[in-house]
Amino acid sequence: MTRSFPSANGTVPFWRTEPQELDNFQSTPNLPEESDIVIIGGGYSAAALVTHIQKQYPNHPSILVLEARQLCSGASGRNGGHIKPDPYFHASDVAAQYGPAAGAEVADFEVANLKAAKEYIEREGVDCDFVLTRAIDVHFSSAQDTRIKERLRGFKAAGVAAAQEVSEVAKDHAEIVSGVKGAQGCISFTAAHLWPYKLIHHMFTKALNHGGLNLQTNTLVNSVSPAPDSQSGWAVQTSRGTVKASKVIMASNSYTSSLLPEYKEQIIPYRGVSCHITTPGPAPLLVNTYALRFKDWDFDYLIPRPDGTIVVGGARSAYFRKKDLWYDNTNDDEVIEETRRYFDGYMQRNFRGWEKSGAEVSEIWTGIMGYSRDKLPRLGPVPDRPGMFIMAGWTGHGMPQIFLAAKGMAEMIVGDVSYRQTGLPRVFEETADRLQNAPNKVLESWYQATQGPRL
Ligand SMILES: Cc1cc2nc3c(=O)[nH]c(=O)nc-3n(C[C@H](O)[C@H](O)[C@H](O)COP(=O)(O)OP(=O)(O)OC[C@H]3O[C@@H](n4cnc5c(N)ncnc54)[C@H](O)[C@@H]3O)c2cc1C
Repeated sequence: MTRSFPSANGTVPFWRTEPQELDNFQSTPNLPEESDIVIIGGGYSAAALVTHIQKQYPNHPSILVLEARQLCSGASGRNGGHIKPDPYFHASDVAAQYGPAAGAEVADFEVANLKAAKEYIEREGVDCDFVLTRAIDVHFSSAQDTRIKERLRGFKAAGVAAAQEVSEVAKDHAEIVSGVKGAQGCISFTAAHLWPYKLIHHMFTKALNHGGLNLQTNTLVNSVSPAPDSQSGWAVQTSRGTVKASKVIMASNSYTSSLLPEYKEQIIPYRGVSCHITTPGPAPLLVNTYALRFKDWDFDYLIPRPDGTIVVGGARSAYFRKKDLWYDNTNDDEVIEETRRYFDGYMQRNFRGWEKSGAEVSEIWTGIMGYSRDKLPRLGPVPDRPGMFIMAGWTGHGMPQIFLAAKGMAEMIVGDVSYRQTGLPRVFEETADRLQNAPNKVLESWYQATQGPRL
């Protein structure tokens, strides 16, 4: 089996154009021989997990974080900067498959995440360009608009708390309210945007100051195996030596199957694209974030930054049909050429009043999302690997899930509580059954896009 580790020279995302002091940080010149807890990965999952462990368990066991490249150089440093709790769209799919209570749990969990992350950022005074606003989901055909709004109404009627503050805009007003050309209807709800790299650096800076954390960037984990000389624990082999650990946490997201073969085709590396758009002078004001939902499988996500520039991602119509360009693909070293053309003139094409803005792409980058086979995150103990835990498989949607997921993970890892006691959404729990029997919904979406009816 080929193993896909983080590639050496990732494209430079806008978010990483101002590297901070922890970018290549190593707490000690050599790795410790042992650590109670080893976390593999240095993205938002690791940052939030360390933050919650220290808050809930101030005298916590020793923690070592191992990151293959620079701090926050994976998906967390390459995303769209959108914290967009989904109160009705994916959650209503979850309800249809796993029952209304499961759908409601997911929707309410995401809304609670935004609130908790906002409270953290405000309490800590984190300088990360955080803005709370409304997200507008735009639809481009009446049929699509009707179908999605029916789902929303069903969710509201079922009493899902998160869905109650979602509002609809009818076709007559959709283009004016959204500012998006050709809008045939839209939906709006509370969301936020931020500079993720700055939040994650803040969390690690604070955690290092607290003590009990050893952070090692530029340290690739090659394998994890049962510790040879003891009844329990793990030997974590790295590019800089081996560390013994009682507990290992896989916060390695899209790269997890490189270390745990059972995750091959369970957490699927999915190559995505985002870009940063700037204008030579003042541009029309955008205050909302967006999803431009051309088809169910083809949507762009967009945030207006407080400096007047734009970050937009997606471009699936430009490359999704060519499966090799994205499926099981960990190459974030190169831009997908088709997407450059797609984003050229993007604001002029899609937004009213931007025709003469001179808007153009200033940075474009690729990033690797960890798509879970059943499109649900995977949290909790790894089946049949005592002392090993996973928090991964965010399916391109980790920003409104990770903060509180980490709180529950901290309780399991340090507090020894059961998954059920954490109150995390039940459908996010990792189980042997999921690992063996979940259908591949990622491929299903691809079949629909390429061969099935045009959704
Ligand atoms: C282009 C793009 C746009 C996105 N847009 C959004 C968005 O707008 N909103 C949203 O909610 N989500 C978005 N996402 C998804 C979001 O970024 C992720 O869900 C989130 O960042 C996952 O965080 P993480 O810490 O689990 O993973 P990552 O940030 O990927 O961190 C995992 C880390 O593990 C390290 N690692 C892996 N294997 C090893 C190893 N063997 N040894 C050492 N280190 C290892 C990697 O180098 C990496 O840094 C987007 C993702 C991409 C790629």
